[in-house]
Amino acid sequence: MKKYIQENYRVRAIPERHFGYETTEKDCEKLKKEIERHCDIEEVYVEHDTRCICEFCGSEWEEEWDNGMPFCCNKAQDEYEKLREEALNNAKNKPILKEPLNDTK
Ligand SMILES: [Zn+2]
Repeated sequence: MKKYIQENYRVRAIPERHFGYETTEKDCEKLKKEIERHCDIEEVYVEHDTRCICEFCGSEWEEEWDNGMPFCCNKAQDEYEKLREEALNNAKNKPILKEPLNDTK
């Protein structure tokens, strides 16, 4: 039968949240130093989660699977179109590199 075991016990510490729901890296580093100063422990480290949001509207980032066009707002879609046009223009202006043909033995 399978059996669940508990291992790698550790403590997670979340600093007081001063600025809305976000906790800054600075607050975490400060708490880390306080823990290191007061406790006899092996290791303290700061971790974080990462999620992708739209820089314009703050929504979770979602895009069309085939072309990468974002769904959330007009600003994100305008930016996408602008970057896509720049990439196309850069590709047009680049000289085409010819591959050497001498490796066909
Ligand atoms: Zn957006």
